[in-house]
Amino acid sequence: MDYESFYRQSIEQPEAFWAEQAQRIHWETPPTQILDQSNPPFRRWFVGGTTNLCYNAVDRHLAERAEQLALVAISSETGVTREFSYRQLHREVNTFAAVLQALDVGKGDRVVIYLPNIAEAVFAMLACARIGAIHSVVFGGFAAHNLALRIDDAQPKLLIAADAGMRGGKVIPYKPLVDAALNEASAPPPRVLLVDRGLDPQMIRVPKRDVDYAELRAKHETAEVPVVWLESNEPSYLLYTSGTTGKPKGVQRDTGGYAVAMALSIRTVFDIAPGQVMFSTSDVGWAVGHSYNVYGPLIGGATSLLYEGLPTRPDPGVWWQLCEQYGVRTMFSSPTAIRVLKKQDAHWLKDHDLSALKWLFLAGEPLDEPTAQWITDALGVPVIDNYWQTETGWPAITLMPGLDLKPTKIGSPGLPAPGYRMKVIDEGTGKEVPAGSKGVLVLEPPLPPGCLSTIWRDDDRYVYSYFSHFRELLYSSLDWAIRDADGYTFILGRTDDVINVAGHRLGTREIEESVAGHPAVAEAAVIGVKDAIKGQVPIVFATLKQDAGVAADAARGMQQCVVDQLGGVAKPSRVYVVNALPKTRSGKLLRRSLQALAEQRDPGDLSTLDDPSALDEIRRALARGP
Ligand code: ATP
Ligand code: MG
Repeated sequence: MDYESFYRQSIEQPEAFWAEQAQRIHWETPPTQILDQSNPPFRRWFVGGTTNLCYNAVDRHLAERAEQLALVAISSETGVTREFSYRQLHREVNTFAAVLQALDVGKGDRVVIYLPNIAEAVFAMLACARIGAIHSVVFGGFAAHNLALRIDDAQPKLLIAADAGMRGGKVIPYKPLVDAALNEASAPPPRVLLVDRGLDPQMIRVPKRDVDYAELRAKHETAEVPVVWLESNEPSYLLYTSGTTGKPKGVQRDTGGYAVAMALSIRTVFDIAPGQVMFSTSDVGWAVGHSYNVYGPLIGGATSLLYEGLPTRPDPGVWWQLCEQYGVRTMFSSPTAIRVLKKQDAHWLKDHDLSALKWLFLAGEPLDEPTAQWITDALGVPVIDNYWQTETGWPAITLMPGLDLKPTKIGSPGLPAPGYRMKVIDEGTGKEVPAGSKGVLVLEPPLPPGCLSTIWRDDDRYVYSYFSHFRELLYSSLDWAIRDADGYTFILGRTDDVINVAGHRLGTREIEESVAGHPAVAEAAVIGVKDAIKGQVPIVFATLKQDAGVAADAARGMQQCVVDQLGGVAKPSRVYVVNALPKTRSGKLLRRSLQALAEQRDPGDLSTLDDPSALDEIRRALARGP
């Protein structure tokens, strides 16, 4: 099937198209209505149909692939690898579901999962899905305050946590964070189920509230827990956005639409057929982890690799060694992770037999050309940028090598995925801009299956966050984009990231891209700061590669790169060389906080900031001067 006709059908005859795609999953009872749009901007897919995510991800494969590997959980931190066939996964999930039931968790109850990237996180998610409980996975690395906010939002009956995670060889106890979060939270206190990895012998248990998973697991080793069938639009899980632009939003996902989107995308976007191997380097706590470490590959009958650890430990070849060992066909990572590797020598990648590897997908942030070029050369496989959001749950702009691979254009994630009706419009007039012009990316309703149903317990915030920016009812998260004459979309950053220099509108992305072209630069963040004469001027914060030479020379070189490529108007007025850039836990540059500090304002909501010392360093750099 070629992309054009596939996409055209999804837009011109959405109901027929999605009715056909729905055949990819098991429905216990088929839907009675494909699409209900009677209450815009809400929409409901596959109304009346009942299904279950866990059944589609696990039980459904037992007949044909019980002995095939379903999940491989690798920890380069503990040095332990655990492999689970579909039969073993089914066993573990049934046991976990029985434990949930023993703790009185049932349909509609919320379960907060605060675990590192280990197999139990996957068992817990699938067990919730099996019994219709709503999971809310909180990235196991968030501080107590973030956890408390999410506990208060979800009001869970149960919180599942580990004694500790590990990062860079250091044990990070989780349990004290759990206790602090429960102290801070005002929601009724949930029970706490502890997965004790034996990493923190000092772990303290609170009697009556805390219970050990291992103990309950032993009691339910042979339990069979029937699947609870859910109506397609009943919620499956909650998941928060990264908080790059402000307070994170609690995305609510449905059941049937999401299952269909996963079954469709794993095959046609990620080119993974049953029995093939997918390695997503994400944490299960992010949207990519939910969709392409857990639900996508498992619904697709594939083998999913889950990885706890850094990309550079024990050495920068660790991911590529895994690709070789397991015959990974499709790998999924982020530009941020590749920039970490780019600081190292490319031989770490080249030393491995990557003949099984067909595609590297990258998402989450704009993929700059130097990074794309470096990784393409190092791996020798096509690198596919794909654009999406926690809200969409699966790629919205991508190429689809599972159908046919259209030519890649560096700097663009490509073409709209099936069901996404996309336009680039003028912020002021709301009219579509001509090809090649900059504007705001919007989606016309209906959003395809898989996208968020609403914001958890806050329909009003759903409407005003996404649908209130323009006169027409259009979905937008305010990303800035250009669509070229071939229909390829280039993402320029967020509308807040636009820099207005003496009337010229420049995307931070364009300037970052030229700065990153300087050979000494590992990573760069560009922001606009107020300027009495020009309105705004760009300034740069950059980290350098190892052995990059003198910082001041590099800084001058970066300015020259921008002048050469974008002209004098875009020339950064200052360049600060630093050791780390402030990022969200999901690896996104916190430009709004950089800008606030540079303009001597409050840096805003920092609840998702990864490393507070990075901001301190920015403060010092600003005080010291470039
Ligand atoms: P918040 O919504 O809380 O401010 P966030 O938007 O960063 O945080 P996510 O859902 O994790 O939360 O990220 C989605 C955003 O990431 C997109 O709206 C876009 O700005 C950016 N993004 C994702 N993939 C790409 C890509 N391939 N190219 C460019 N930008 C991307
Ligand atoms: Mg967003």
